[in-house]
Amino acid sequence: MTELPHETRDTPPPPPAPGGRRELELAEARQDLRADCSRCVALCCVAPVFVASADFALDKPAGVPCPNLRGDDRCGIHAKLRSRGFAGCAVFDCFGAGQRVTALFAGSTWRDSPQDAAAMFGALDVLRQLHEALWYLREAAHLVPRGPLHDLVDALIGTTEGLAASDAATLADIDTGTYRREVGDLLADVSAAVRAPGGRRWAGRDLVGARLRGADLREADLRGAYAIGADLRDADLRRCDLLGADLRGADLAGARLDGALFLTQPQVEAAQGDPRTTLPAGLARPGHWSAGR
Ligand code: SF4
Repeated sequence: MTELPHETRDTPPPPPAPGGRRELELAEARQDLRADCSRCVALCCVAPVFVASADFALDKPAGVPCPNLRGDDRCGIHAKLRSRGFAGCAVFDCFGAGQRVTALFAGSTWRDSPQDAAAMFGALDVLRQLHEALWYLREAAHLVPRGPLHDLVDALIGTTEGLAASDAATLADIDTGTYRREVGDLLADVSAAVRAPGGRRWAGRDLVGARLRGADLREADLRGAYAIGADLRDADLRRCDLLGADLRGADLAGARLDGALFLTQPQVEAAQGDPRTTLPAGLARPGHWSAGR
Protein backbone atom coordinates (compact mmCIF):
# COMPACT_ATOMS: atom_id res chain seq x y z
CA MET A 1 0.00 0.00 0.00
CA THR A 2 2.60 2.54 -0.96
CA GLU A 3 1.19 5.46 -2.85
CA LEU A 4 2.00 3.55 -6.00
CA PRO A 5 -0.35 0.61 -5.37
CA HIS A 6 -3.83 0.44 -6.78
CA GLU A 7 -3.21 3.12 -9.31
CA THR A 8 -3.43 1.70 -12.79
CA ARG A 9 0.17 1.15 -13.68
CA ASP A 10 1.43 -0.71 -16.70
CA THR A 11 5.11 -0.39 -15.93
CA PRO A 12 7.27 -0.76 -12.79
CA PRO A 13 8.05 2.32 -10.65
CA PRO A 14 10.15 5.13 -12.09
CA PRO A 15 13.87 4.60 -12.49
CA PRO A 16 16.08 5.10 -9.45
CA ALA A 17 17.85 8.33 -8.64
CA PRO A 18 21.35 8.61 -10.08
CA GLY A 19 23.96 6.74 -8.12
CA GLY A 20 27.29 5.00 -8.40
CA ARG A 21 27.68 2.06 -10.73
CA ARG A 22 27.51 -0.41 -7.86
CA GLU A 23 24.35 1.16 -6.50
CA LEU A 24 22.72 1.06 -9.91
CA GLU A 25 23.65 -2.60 -10.26
CA LEU A 26 22.03 -3.25 -6.92
CA ALA A 27 18.87 -1.41 -7.97
CA GLU A 28 18.73 -3.62 -11.05
CA ALA A 29 19.20 -6.75 -8.92
CA ARG A 30 16.19 -5.76 -6.85
CA GLN A 31 13.76 -5.22 -9.71
CA ASP A 32 11.72 -8.30 -8.83
CA LEU A 33 11.30 -6.97 -5.30
CA ARG A 34 9.27 -3.98 -6.45
CA ALA A 35 5.53 -3.93 -5.98
CA ASP A 36 3.61 -4.02 -9.23
CA CYS A 37 -0.04 -3.61 -8.32
CA SER A 38 -1.09 -4.00 -11.94
CA ARG A 39 -0.19 -7.69 -11.53
CA CYS A 40 -1.80 -8.10 -8.10
CA VAL A 41 -5.39 -8.50 -6.95
CA ALA A 42 -5.25 -5.96 -4.12
CA LEU A 43 -4.25 -8.57 -1.55
CA CYS A 44 -2.84 -5.97 0.84
CA CYS A 45 -6.21 -4.17 0.92
CA VAL A 46 -7.97 -7.31 2.10
CA ALA A 47 -5.60 -9.58 4.04
CA PRO A 48 -4.45 -7.46 7.01
CA VAL A 49 -6.38 -6.29 10.02
CA PHE A 50 -6.62 -2.51 10.41
CA VAL A 51 -6.87 -0.89 13.82
CA ALA A 52 -8.16 2.67 13.79
CA SER A 53 -5.17 4.89 14.53
CA ALA A 54 -3.03 7.63 13.01
CA ASP A 55 -2.24 5.17 10.21
CA PHE A 56 -5.74 3.90 9.42
CA ALA A 57 -8.97 5.83 9.67
CA LEU A 58 -11.06 2.79 10.50
CA ASP A 59 -11.11 -0.71 11.95
CA LYS A 60 -11.13 -3.59 9.51
CA PRO A 61 -10.98 -7.33 10.27
CA ALA A 62 -8.41 -9.49 8.53
CA GLY A 63 -9.64 -10.97 5.27
CA VAL A 64 -12.28 -8.31 4.69
CA PRO A 65 -11.89 -5.81 1.83
CA CYS A 66 -11.20 -2.22 2.77
CA PRO A 67 -14.31 -0.14 2.01
CA ASN A 68 -12.20 2.11 -0.19
CA LEU A 69 -11.30 -0.75 -2.51
CA ARG A 70 -13.12 -0.59 -5.83
CA GLY A 71 -14.41 -3.51 -7.81
CA ASP A 72 -11.52 -3.21 -10.24
CA ASP A 73 -9.00 -3.77 -7.40
CA ARG A 74 -7.94 -0.14 -7.41
CA CYS A 75 -7.98 2.19 -4.43
CA GLY A 76 -10.79 4.72 -4.57
CA ILE A 77 -8.80 7.31 -2.60
CA HIS A 78 -5.35 6.62 -3.99
CA ALA A 79 -4.49 10.28 -4.50
CA LYS A 80 -5.69 11.26 -1.02
CA LEU A 81 -4.44 8.48 1.22
CA ARG A 82 -2.68 10.71 3.72
CA SER A 83 -5.33 13.41 3.88
CA ARG A 84 -8.04 10.78 4.32
CA GLY A 85 -6.25 9.17 7.26
CA PHE A 86 -4.64 6.20 5.53
CA ALA A 87 -0.96 7.05 5.93
CA GLY A 88 -0.35 3.40 6.76
CA CYS A 89 -1.31 2.50 3.21
CA ALA A 90 0.97 5.18 1.83
CA VAL A 91 4.04 3.69 3.50
CA PHE A 92 3.31 -0.02 3.02
CA ASP A 93 5.40 -2.00 0.56
CA CYS A 94 4.92 -5.71 -0.20
CA PHE A 95 8.38 -5.93 -1.84
CA GLY A 96 6.78 -7.60 -4.84
CA ALA A 97 5.11 -10.35 -2.83
CA GLY A 98 1.62 -9.37 -3.99
CA GLN A 99 2.17 -10.11 -7.65
CA ARG A 100 4.04 -13.30 -6.74
CA VAL A 101 1.13 -14.63 -4.70
CA THR A 102 -1.27 -13.68 -7.49
CA ALA A 103 0.84 -15.68 -9.94
CA LEU A 104 1.20 -18.57 -7.48
CA PHE A 105 -2.55 -19.02 -7.46
CA ALA A 106 -2.62 -18.89 -11.24
CA GLY A 107 -5.20 -16.23 -11.73
CA SER A 108 -7.74 -17.26 -9.12
CA THR A 109 -8.55 -14.45 -6.73
CA TRP A 110 -10.01 -13.98 -3.28
CA ARG A 111 -13.12 -12.67 -5.01
CA ASP A 112 -13.86 -15.59 -7.30
CA SER A 113 -12.24 -18.36 -5.22
CA PRO A 114 -13.06 -17.51 -1.61
CA GLN A 115 -12.11 -21.04 -0.58
CA ASP A 116 -8.48 -20.16 -1.45
CA ALA A 117 -8.48 -16.75 0.21
CA ALA A 118 -6.96 -17.83 3.53
CA ALA A 119 -4.12 -19.64 1.74
CA MET A 120 -3.48 -16.58 -0.44
CA PHE A 121 -3.33 -14.26 2.55
CA GLY A 122 -1.05 -16.65 4.42
CA ALA A 123 1.28 -16.88 1.42
CA LEU A 124 1.35 -13.08 1.20
CA ASP A 125 2.48 -12.79 4.81
CA VAL A 126 5.34 -15.27 4.36
CA LEU A 127 6.42 -14.12 0.91
CA ARG A 128 6.52 -10.51 2.00
CA GLN A 129 8.99 -11.48 4.72
CA LEU A 130 11.09 -13.51 2.30
CA HIS A 131 11.13 -10.73 -0.29
CA GLU A 132 12.04 -8.13 2.31
CA ALA A 133 14.89 -10.38 3.44
CA LEU A 134 16.04 -10.65 -0.18
CA TRP A 135 16.00 -6.85 -0.39
CA TYR A 136 18.58 -6.73 2.40
CA LEU A 137 20.55 -9.80 1.41
CA ARG A 138 21.11 -8.65 -2.16
CA GLU A 139 22.43 -5.39 -0.77
CA ALA A 140 24.68 -7.34 1.57
CA ALA A 141 26.02 -9.32 -1.39
CA HIS A 142 26.97 -6.03 -3.04
CA LEU A 143 28.62 -4.71 0.09
CA VAL A 144 30.96 -7.52 1.09
CA PRO A 145 33.97 -8.53 -0.99
CA ARG A 146 34.43 -12.09 -2.17
CA GLY A 147 35.30 -14.38 0.73
CA PRO A 148 33.71 -16.48 3.48
CA LEU A 149 31.20 -13.82 4.53
CA HIS A 150 30.13 -13.26 0.95
CA ASP A 151 29.70 -17.02 0.56
CA LEU A 152 27.37 -17.08 3.57
CA VAL A 153 25.30 -14.27 2.09
CA ASP A 154 25.12 -16.01 -1.27
CA ALA A 155 24.06 -19.25 0.41
CA LEU A 156 21.25 -17.55 2.32
CA ILE A 157 20.09 -15.79 -0.83
CA GLY A 158 19.90 -19.18 -2.53
CA THR A 159 17.98 -20.66 0.39
CA THR A 160 15.58 -17.72 0.43
CA GLU A 161 14.96 -17.79 -3.29
CA GLY A 162 14.25 -21.50 -3.01
CA LEU A 163 11.76 -20.94 -0.21
CA ALA A 164 10.09 -18.12 -2.11
CA ALA A 165 9.57 -20.44 -5.07
CA SER A 166 7.69 -22.95 -2.90
CA ASP A 167 4.03 -23.84 -3.19
CA ALA A 168 1.50 -22.40 -0.76
CA ALA A 169 1.54 -25.43 1.56
CA THR A 170 5.31 -25.30 1.92
CA LEU A 171 5.25 -21.56 2.53
CA ALA A 172 2.76 -22.10 5.34
CA ASP A 173 5.18 -24.45 7.10
CA ILE A 174 8.13 -22.05 7.15
CA ASP A 175 9.27 -21.01 10.62
CA THR A 176 9.56 -17.32 9.83
CA GLY A 177 10.76 -16.40 13.31
CA THR A 178 13.82 -18.64 13.10
CA TYR A 179 14.44 -17.59 9.51
CA ARG A 180 14.30 -13.88 10.35
CA ARG A 181 16.76 -14.32 13.21
CA GLU A 182 19.18 -16.09 10.89
CA VAL A 183 18.93 -13.25 8.36
CA GLY A 184 19.26 -10.59 11.04
CA ASP A 185 22.39 -12.17 12.52
CA LEU A 186 24.07 -12.41 9.13
CA LEU A 187 23.17 -8.83 8.22
CA ALA A 188 24.63 -7.68 11.53
CA ASP A 189 27.90 -9.41 10.64
CA VAL A 190 27.88 -7.77 7.22
CA SER A 191 27.17 -4.36 8.70
CA ALA A 192 30.00 -4.66 11.19
CA ALA A 193 32.36 -5.84 8.46
CA VAL A 194 31.68 -3.05 5.97
CA ARG A 195 31.35 0.00 8.20
CA ALA A 196 34.47 1.80 9.31
CA PRO A 197 35.05 1.73 13.07
CA GLY A 198 34.30 4.82 15.07
CA GLY A 199 30.70 5.40 14.03
CA ARG A 200 28.10 5.91 16.72
CA ARG A 201 26.59 2.72 18.12
CA TRP A 202 22.96 3.59 18.59
CA ALA A 203 21.29 0.31 17.65
CA GLY A 204 17.87 0.13 19.27
CA ARG A 205 18.38 3.53 20.88
CA ASP A 206 15.41 5.72 21.80
CA LEU A 207 15.93 8.73 19.55
CA VAL A 208 12.31 9.87 19.53
CA GLY A 209 12.30 13.59 18.82
CA ALA A 210 16.10 13.74 19.11
CA ARG A 211 17.79 16.91 17.92
CA LEU A 212 20.35 15.63 15.47
CA ARG A 213 20.43 18.44 12.97
CA GLY A 214 23.71 18.39 11.08
CA ALA A 215 24.92 15.33 13.01
CA ASP A 216 27.75 13.29 11.59
CA LEU A 217 26.25 9.81 11.57
CA ARG A 218 28.47 8.34 8.91
CA GLU A 219 29.29 4.67 9.59
CA ALA A 220 26.89 4.71 12.56
CA ASP A 221 24.78 1.77 13.68
CA LEU A 222 21.13 2.83 13.99
CA ARG A 223 19.63 -0.62 13.50
CA GLY A 224 16.22 -0.72 15.07
CA ALA A 225 16.60 2.78 16.54
CA TYR A 226 13.41 4.67 17.35
CA ALA A 227 13.95 7.94 15.54
CA ILE A 228 10.29 8.92 15.37
CA GLY A 229 10.02 12.65 14.80
CA ALA A 230 13.79 13.10 15.10
CA ASP A 231 15.33 16.25 13.65
CA LEU A 232 17.84 14.84 11.17
CA ARG A 233 17.97 17.88 8.94
CA ASP A 234 21.30 18.14 7.12
CA ALA A 235 22.57 15.05 8.95
CA ASP A 236 25.14 12.89 7.20
CA LEU A 237 23.92 9.29 7.18
CA ARG A 238 26.18 7.88 4.52
CA ARG A 239 27.21 4.30 5.29
CA CYS A 240 24.92 4.41 8.32
CA ASP A 241 23.11 1.12 9.07
CA LEU A 242 19.40 1.95 9.17
CA LEU A 243 18.02 -1.59 9.17
CA GLY A 244 14.59 -1.44 10.75
CA ALA A 245 15.08 2.08 12.13
CA ASP A 246 11.74 3.76 12.78
CA LEU A 247 11.87 7.02 10.85
CA ARG A 248 8.19 7.95 11.09
CA GLY A 249 7.90 11.70 10.98
CA ALA A 250 11.68 12.17 11.11
CA ASP A 251 12.82 15.31 9.30
CA LEU A 252 15.41 14.40 6.68
CA ALA A 253 15.50 17.75 4.89
CA GLY A 254 18.95 18.18 3.42
CA ALA A 255 20.14 14.89 4.89
CA ARG A 256 22.59 12.69 3.03
CA LEU A 257 21.28 9.16 2.70
CA ASP A 258 23.13 8.12 -0.43
CA GLY A 259 25.10 5.07 0.56
CA ALA A 260 23.01 4.47 3.70
CA LEU A 261 22.78 0.76 4.47
CA PHE A 262 19.62 -1.36 4.44
CA LEU A 263 17.22 1.53 3.90
CA THR A 264 13.79 0.72 2.46
CA GLN A 265 11.10 2.64 0.63
CA PRO A 266 8.63 2.34 3.53
CA GLN A 267 11.13 4.03 5.86
CA VAL A 268 11.58 6.86 3.39
CA GLU A 269 7.85 7.19 2.82
CA ALA A 270 7.26 7.49 6.56
CA ALA A 271 9.73 10.37 6.92
CA GLN A 272 9.83 13.95 5.70
CA GLY A 273 12.41 15.32 3.32
CA ASP A 274 13.04 17.97 0.73
CA PRO A 275 14.69 18.29 -2.69
CA ARG A 276 18.14 18.45 -1.07
CA THR A 277 17.76 15.05 0.63
CA THR A 278 19.86 12.45 -1.13
CA LEU A 279 18.76 8.81 -1.34
CA PRO A 280 20.40 5.53 -2.27
CA ALA A 281 19.88 4.56 -5.89
CA GLY A 282 16.72 2.53 -6.31
CA LEU A 283 14.66 4.41 -3.72
CA ALA A 284 12.08 6.86 -5.03
CA ARG A 285 11.60 10.35 -3.66
CA PRO A 286 8.20 10.36 -1.91
CA GLY A 287 5.56 12.51 -3.49
CA HIS A 288 4.62 14.13 -0.19
CA TRP A 289 8.07 15.59 0.43
CA SER A 290 7.90 19.32 0.17
CA ALA A 291 9.18 21.07 -2.91
CA GLY A 292 11.07 23.53 -0.74
CA ARG A 293 11.20 25.04 2.70
S1 SF4 B 1 -7.32 2.87 1.61
FE1 SF4 B 1 -8.06 0.78 1.39
S2 SF4 B 1 -8.19 0.43 -0.82
FE2 SF4 B 1 -6.87 2.24 -0.49
S3 SF4 B 1 -4.76 1.43 -0.42
FE3 SF4 B 1 -5.51 1.50 1.69
S4 SF4 B 1 -6.36 -0.55 2.06
FE4 SF4 B 1 -6.17 -0.31 -0.17
